[in-house]
Amino acid sequence: MTVAPEDLAEYGRDWTRVYDPAPAAIVFPRTTDEVAAFLRLCSEHGVAVVPSGGRTGLSGGAVAANGEVVLSLARMNKIFPVDLLSSTVRVQAGAITQAVHEHCAPLGLTWPIDFASKGSSHVGGNISTNAGGQRVIRYGLTRNWVNGLQVVTIGGDILELNGSLQKNNTGMELSQLFIGTEGTLGIITEATLRLTSLPIHTELFFFATSSLAASLELLKHTKLNGPFTILTFEYLTNDCLESVLKFSQRKSPFASAAHSYILLEVECAESAEQKQKLDEWMQIALENDLIVDGVLAHSHEERNDLWALRELVSESLAAQGLVYKNDIALPIAKLDEFATEMQALLSSNYPHLKLFLFGHLGDGNFHVNFLKPPQMEKSEFLDICHAADTEMFETVRKFGGSVSAEHGIGLLKKAALSYSRTPAELAIFRQIKKALDPQNLLNPGKIFD
Ligand SMILES: Cc1cc2nc3c(=O)[nH]c(=O)nc-3n(C[C@H](O)[C@H](O)[C@H](O)COP(=O)(O)OP(=O)(O)OC[C@H]3O[C@@H](n4cnc5c(N)ncnc54)[C@H](O)[C@@H]3O)c2cc1C
Repeated sequence: MTVAPEDLAEYGRDWTRVYDPAPAAIVFPRTTDEVAAFLRLCSEHGVAVVPSGGRTGLSGGAVAANGEVVLSLARMNKIFPVDLLSSTVRVQAGAITQAVHEHCAPLGLTWPIDFASKGSSHVGGNISTNAGGQRVIRYGLTRNWVNGLQVVTIGGDILELNGSLQKNNTGMELSQLFIGTEGTLGIITEATLRLTSLPIHTELFFFATSSLAASLELLKHTKLNGPFTILTFEYLTNDCLESVLKFSQRKSPFASAAHSYILLEVECAESAEQKQKLDEWMQIALENDLIVDGVLAHSHEERNDLWALRELVSESLAAQGLVYKNDIALPIAKLDEFATEMQALLSSNYPHLKLFLFGHLGDGNFHVNFLKPPQMEKSEFLDICHAADTEMFETVRKFGGSVSAEHGIGLLKKAALSYSRTPAELAIFRQIKKALDPQNLLNPGKIFD
């Protein structure tokens, strides 16, 4: 346990820098039994607990701003041997996402949850946020890749939910309750993860496009005619690219700037015939103005360089100051209309907000980021962002979207939840919370009050 001020400041927050951390203490259990004993004590004494993973969350879910005790899973990071027969691996919740990848890769297997923060995020955090990332278009969300969970309730009961079973049709699958509920119902201490084969051969393209509409046409062409399986279809505007280039001292792969860019990774065969098919597919994209320019990575270094152009967007913006983030999902067919309305709204009502738009276009997921102008006070900036949110979320609702695609609700998006959930749904949320955490001690105030 620690109460050192620097630890309280560090472990009391996540990647959002909106809330001031103020936890009472940080505890670092090493075993599930220690977690259970600690939660029993908290339950007896009415102590609120904030579960903490790698603290890369973008919604304030792991923030402890009200004297809670932070329960960090950082010391529970064991990764057990891969079960080759069932293609699963058992891990403790504090295992780092990338460490799981590295553990499984020599066996030709992977846990396909992949994003820029994988070097810090924990499996427990990924599961608690039902994380998405760059490969959702191919593999879906984290939920699809969890066979079983070990969860400790606030009363100290240790639940073994589903073990490593692929099939178990015996009533309610309780493990699903703890996936994506941001530590509000129980502490995940271990998980049995489903694995899949690593792609045998991949190609990585970076395309310049003349508009969002063209990028979406490229997505259609890619889905319909691409001689490959899509692994990643990521989008960023030129403002995002400029931010990355400045931050990382890199050069654009293109001679002139375009409206936006697509990072496309595909799995395909490695042959002369395949290369010809790829060339033909790209030629059609060029002839139909779906792309204005494009590059293909030819080496490991070039791959890393192209990936960096997308993966460094968040980091490059954060380096410039306070970033206000939204993470919305829309039907893919509505993305262009939404972006047009959004731009019009910003120009007319919020001219001080500079928009940085990027995200997982292939999943209908936009990250809508605003950077605080240097001369503006933080409180004024946040007030403007909240006002813009209200109008933007109305548009999201109108188009049948969601106010949180993959980052969760936490503290940051709590006020927006009613745009995506009905009163009847919220009433069920509250009943489930009450059943599992009657004293409201587990991550109180997160997702809903
Ligand atoms: C640069 C960058 C890029 C990112 N890209 C993506 C992306 O593409 N897709 C995406 O989905 N997310 C992305 N994220 C967000 C973040 O990395 C994910 O939400 C990640 O899953 C959080 O994991 P974590 O271990 O850091 O969780 P934390 O931030 O520590 O916690 C997240 C939530 O889970 C709870 N929690 C943590 N561990 C447990 C546990 N063991 N039991 C119960 N509850 C627990 C916390 O209380 C909190 O509510 C990105 C973040 C950054 C900084």
